Amino acid sequence: MNANNLFKVFTLIIAIAISTTLFAQEDFPKPGKMEPEMSEFWLPQPVIVTPGIVKCTDLIPAPSDADILFDGKDLSKWKGTETEEAQWIVSEGVFTVKKGTGSIATKKHYRDFQLHLEWKVPVNITGSSQGRGNSGVMLQGIYEVQVLDSYNNKTYANGQAGSIYKQTAPLVNAMKKPGEWNIYDIIYTAPTFTKDNTYRTYPYVTVIHNGIVIQNNTRINGTTPYIGFPTVSEHSDGPIILQDHGDPISFRNIWIREL
Ligand code: MG
Repeated sequence: MNANNLFKVFTLIIAIAISTTLFAQEDFPKPGKMEPEMSEFWLPQPVIVTPGIVKCTDLIPAPSDADILFDGKDLSKWKGTETEEAQWIVSEGVFTVKKGTGSIATKKHYRDFQLHLEWKVPVNITGSSQGRGNSGVMLQGIYEVQVLDSYNNKTYANGQAGSIYKQTAPLVNAMKKPGEWNIYDIIYTAPTFTKDNTYRTYPYVTVIHNGIVIQNNTRINGTTPYIGFPTVSEHSDGPIILQDHGDPISFRNIWIREL
């Protein structure tokens, strides 16, 4: 091979190397900032199922071994996550999120449990998507089971009422309309951890919404952030936290059984 041909081969190799690099960059863009939309899943939307319980004027009484977390009178079993006292409003046997006072947490911490709670979206609710009737139940203070007005309110499937927020959509939409009480029965199994800060066994949750299973022993993959994907780090027992998302969601008849 003479010098001229050698130069041509050399040029060709350089050209291939440069174009390969350029194409590779096009195929694999550099990771940018994580946006909220990146962890939204819109389809399929959960099918609407009308709950069989038409009216729920009577409270479902707690079993004899349950710890009553709210008996209609006061928030003595709760504290604020940002203040010493829980600041939410207690009136006529229910309590309601007081916007801007922060979330509230049970004083006691839990591992595995069965939790019963009833919640209601006010009839005059406004807004749309995640800005309408938003609250949440944080299991061990970390993993959010979403509370939202999912009655005629389109949003991403893994953000609807009863979703494991930004992870798993509810199996169906069992939502009652604003002004009517919704019931959550939540059965939760806490995770265990390895020495290197990962799950030895994952947390699992079953959620029954108005008598309908919407999470069937669902594996929780980690934290439930608004932005980003689940992360895992070791934690001990934790409280039940109810979320202040700025909407006046009401709660009543809350009890828990440790398992
Ligand atoms: Mg929420």
